Amino acid sequence: MFIDIAKIKIISGRGGDGKVSFHREKYVAAGGPDGGDGGRGGSIVFQVDDNLSTLLDFRYKKKYTAPAGENGMGKRMKGKDGADLVIRVPRGTLIRDQQTGQVIKDMSDEQPFIAAKGGNGGWGNTHFATPTRQAPRFAKPGLPGQEMDIILELKLLADVGLVGFPNVGKSTLLSMVSAARPKIANYHFTTLIPNLGVVRVGEEQSFVMADIPGIIEGASEGAGLGHDFLRHIDRCRLLLHLVDVAGSEGRDPIADVETINAELAGYSEFLAARPQIIVANKIDLLGDDQQPIQRLQAYAEEKGFEFLTLSAATNQGVRQLVMKTWETLQQLPPVFIYEPEFIPEQPEVTERDITVEKVEDYYVIGGAWVDKLMGSVNTEDYESRQYMDRMLKNAGVYDRLEEMGIQEGDFVVIGELEFEYVH
Ligand code: GDP
Ligand code: MG
Repeated sequence: MFIDIAKIKIISGRGGDGKVSFHREKYVAAGGPDGGDGGRGGSIVFQVDDNLSTLLDFRYKKKYTAPAGENGMGKRMKGKDGADLVIRVPRGTLIRDQQTGQVIKDMSDEQPFIAAKGGNGGWGNTHFATPTRQAPRFAKPGLPGQEMDIILELKLLADVGLVGFPNVGKSTLLSMVSAARPKIANYHFTTLIPNLGVVRVGEEQSFVMADIPGIIEGASEGAGLGHDFLRHIDRCRLLLHLVDVAGSEGRDPIADVETINAELAGYSEFLAARPQIIVANKIDLLGDDQQPIQRLQAYAEEKGFEFLTLSAATNQGVRQLVMKTWETLQQLPPVFIYEPEFIPEQPEVTERDITVEKVEDYYVIGGAWVDKLMGSVNTEDYESRQYMDRMLKNAGVYDRLEEMGIQEGDFVVIGELEFEYVH
């Protein structure tokens, strides 16, 4: 089964907790703190895998959770980091935010992409020891992982897309110019999945061609096969529009071209405006009457399309078609790669995020706001400490300490800084 859209949940691992522990040895009365840090949680990482061609796996498994980091241990032993969870996707998979539909990442190259970072591990009590506080009985908990609801959408990456009615010879052409072996048969809709083939032009030159299931009338409104597959030629740089010029199924070649182009326009005006070469196929069936070719060619010229003749079945015109396609591609912009448009919300850090706790004899001040403040303070520098003092005061931290009953001379702990409280 070919699946090109899936909704999944990803959750990165939470960080392990820091450990509160003290060195113990025979005959040593009271050892110092030796609690290790928690390990980092595993991240959720996406990676392109060219052996994959469908999102089928995501139909069955909807939730992806990376392991948590292990907690810190005694003897200063750091908890093990959680392993990253690598999710493999076919090339051309878009990762979108489920709520807004915005693109988070276009998985089009080999670069691994970290979609959700694992939470940091908490510090063990070793970090909180100072000359005056030799036995800190607190450590930091690990930070939670990130949870995201996302949509995976496969939009194949190909330079050239084949379009046309069923049975006009698209799969035959792909099999003649590449190593791809799409199903070929003389009945409609033999192609049920998109096929990609690499077309070699020279030693170093090649392009990728996509064959999608035939487009039929009404496909752009979702009737029958075809509509769902248009997304796979949506970013092709060039369309080869194959036509059964011999009318071997009783249809008029020009009407065919108009029908298909109306379908493309119904799907997207951008796709309809894509450069197109009209390829008159099955010329071997025409015999002496070359008139259908001339008619179609005149129509193509009038509409401003390039025009080629072909007999995919007998290999006539195949080389010319490959060369013409290659030359045309040189003039065209590269395959469209989506720019990320989704920026994960950064919660604003406010003074409400300050925590003041009494742990044993210490007043411990923490929280995101304080972490941010401490990041900008040099505690060795007098003026910088003055600034910190003012900020804490303005943020109401000292009022809170007073309310909690702090006394002159009690110890206050902020990050790695410890000082005696003075009114
Ligand atoms: P698709 O549906 O467009 O992919 O068409 P296929 O490639 O499956 O071809 C449909 C039928 O047309 C098959 O029986 C092919 O052998 C036949 N066919 C394809 N190209 C040619 C051609 O150039 N000449 C003739 N006589 N038959 C062809
Ligand atoms: Mg086919």
